[in-house]
Formats: sequence, structure tokens, C-alpha cells
Amino acid sequence: MGTYDIICIGAGPTGLACAIEAKRAGMTPLVIDKGCLCNSIYHYPVNMVFFTTPELLEIGDLPLVSAAEKPVRVEALKYYRKAAEYYGLEVRLFERVLRVDGHDGHFTVVTQTAKGGEERYSSKKISVATGYYDLPNVMDIPGENLPHVSHYYTEPYEFWNEDVVVIGGKNSAAEAALDLYRNGARVTLVHRKAELGSTIKYWVRPDIENRIKASQVKALFETRVKQITGDEVLVENGNGETRLPAKQVFALTGYHPDFTFIESLGVHLDPETRKPALDPNTLESNVPGIHLAGVVIGGRHTSEIFIENGRFHGKQIIESLKA
Ligand SMILES: Cc1cc2nc3c(=O)[nH]c(=O)nc-3n(C[C@H](O)[C@H](O)[C@H](O)COP(=O)(O)OP(=O)(O)OC[C@H]3O[C@@H](n4cnc5c(N)ncnc54)[C@H](O)[C@@H]3O)c2cc1C
Repeated sequence: MGTYDIICIGAGPTGLACAIEAKRAGMTPLVIDKGCLCNSIYHYPVNMVFFTTPELLEIGDLPLVSAAEKPVRVEALKYYRKAAEYYGLEVRLFERVLRVDGHDGHFTVVTQTAKGGEERYSSKKISVATGYYDLPNVMDIPGENLPHVSHYYTEPYEFWNEDVVVIGGKNSAAEAALDLYRNGARVTLVHRKAELGSTIKYWVRPDIENRIKASQVKALFETRVKQITGDEVLVENGNGETRLPAKQVFALTGYHPDFTFIESLGVHLDPETRKPALDPNTLESNVPGIHLAGVVIGGRHTSEIFIENGRFHGKQIIESLKA
């Protein structure tokens, strides 16, 4: 196997867009992901509806058509798979990138395969688009690792006629609470702030607010979760401590990029925001030849970059390499 022009770490929309731009520029890109194609989107809630209209999710100038006004998870998965096929991208899946050795023009990407073996790939340049969905923001409380506590919402059907506690106050928490309520679960939403997040989808906000007003979804604001046990969640607010029954707990408290991995590449991160040091034009980091793309550029501020804007990072990187 020869040397690739660029290895894109992460096969999310950003990594794929970058590889497509490289291919269009006559380069030989390789995409590597530790999971399946678009592993993050694959693990989103099963019936997730994007807040973005279809054309703003497009990559490689390929049209995305959705049945309704906003695309759903399955449509995005099919679209990005087709985009990878259309451009004949070379992709290695279920291989985790462990480290990157070498220097600009002569990098070696070392991966671990699903069977535990090691693979090595040579590349002149590296693009890192590893997203943020793998690492939840933990509450660091006793019981958080119990089997009935999840940082990922999937489907409601298992929880009919059961008590479910949803922790969080942004989109994911609001949507999970509504979906669970509509499918017969008894839902309590626990949020540490005084009100729901300002970025809640415009069509979700009135729905969740009205369900709370009607006590169909019980909500506790300015409430802190102290502990989770096998069948209860202990919370505390101005009225003291309360024990909420819970067959299942969804702690939807957000996610963050793998800062340890990015630092292991030699990339400097801002001590406060954890934003990587990079040239805003070329997206090249302080390590020559290593570029960053997508949501990782936002550091802790994960709501600054989404597919809508991250999909253009590949073009920026490839333009700079061509120049
Ligand atoms: C529920 C939800 C709804 C959203 N809705 C929208 C929306 O409507 N519109 C919008 O624009 N954005 C939306 N977003 C945000 C958007 O999905 C993310 O910003 C986007 O996926 C980021 O794309 P990415 O390619 O940078 O990262 P990802 O899609 O997360 O891809 C990163 C990939 O890197 C892989 N990876 C990580 N580490 C390694 C490693 N060491 N080795 C190999 N592979 C690795 C992961 O497996 C993953 O496949 C939503 C996010 C969530 C959670």
C-alpha cells in the first residue's frame, strides 16, 4: 500500500466531505472510522428529525431530498452512504486511530482493528474530524454508571407504563421527554437551570412547555441530581431532597470532543475553551500537516459548529493544500 495524500480520521459528514474534496482535487484520500459510516448519526435517537433543511446537510454537491421539510436520521444515513459510494471513497471502518507518528509529508496513522490487530497507513497530510458524540458530559455522581442509566436516548417503547427520569434541559432532553410521554411512560424532567435551553427547536418548545403546564410531563427546574440508585433518583432543590422513582434514567447532559486524543497529536488546546490552535484559513493546527475539521474546532463550545457549517471545512483544507 502506497502513501495517501490525506487521511481523514472520522467518517462523519465532515470527514466524508473532506475526502470528497480531496478526491475531486485529484488526491488519494483514505477515511478511517472506529465505528460504522456516520457512526454518530447512526447512534442518534432512532426517530430523530434534523433541525436543518436538507440542502444545508449536503456534501460533494449531491442533492439530498427528504420526504418532509426536515430530513430524518435514516435519510441522512442513506444519503451519506450514497455520497461515499458515488465518489468511490476508500474507507476503513471499525478501526480506531490510536496515534499518528511522523511529521508533515510523512505521517504514519496507527489503528486498532475490530479483531484487536494493528494496522499502519502512510499519509502526507492528516485531517481530524472526530466529532464529539462518543464522550458524554458526566455528572460525576454515585450511580451514574448503573446499567439503567444512559447518556444516549434511542426509543421509547420499552418504557410504557414505567417511571423514567430525563436529566437535561436542551433539545435532546426535551425531545426524549416528549417521545417517552407520547409512548406511555411517566416522565420527570430534571434540569439544573431555571428554564429550558434557548436553542430548543422552534417546533419542540411549545410542545414541551404545554406538556409541562398540563403536568403530562413533570418538570423540576433548578434541581440538582445527587445520586442514582437501582430504582430511584435522589434530587435536591429549594424544597429540599426528593426521591424520584426511575426504571430508566436518560442523562442527556451533552457531549465533548476527545481532547486527550487531539492533544496526543501534539495539537495545543486552549486551557479554558479547549479550542485547538489553528490557522482559521487553512484549518492547519500548530502541528504542520495536521488539520482539524468539524465540531472539534469548537472545543467545549459544541453548538458553534454543526454539519451545516462543518461540511465546508474539507473544502477549506483541500484548497489550502492545492495552493
Ligand atoms: C441529536 C443530535 C441532532 C443534531 N441535529 C443536527 C442538525 O439538525 N443539523 C446540524 O447541522 N447538526 C446537527 N447536529 C450536530 C451534528 O450532528 C454534529 O455537529 C456533526 O455530526 C458533526 O459532524 P462531524 O463529522 O464533525 O462529527 P461526527 O458526525 O461525530 O463524526 C465523527 C466520527 O469520528 C469517529 N471517530 C472518533 N474518534 C475516532 C478515532 N480515534 N478513530 C477513528 N474514528 C474516530 C466517530 O466514530 C465518528 O463517526 C446534531 C447532533 C445531535 C447529537
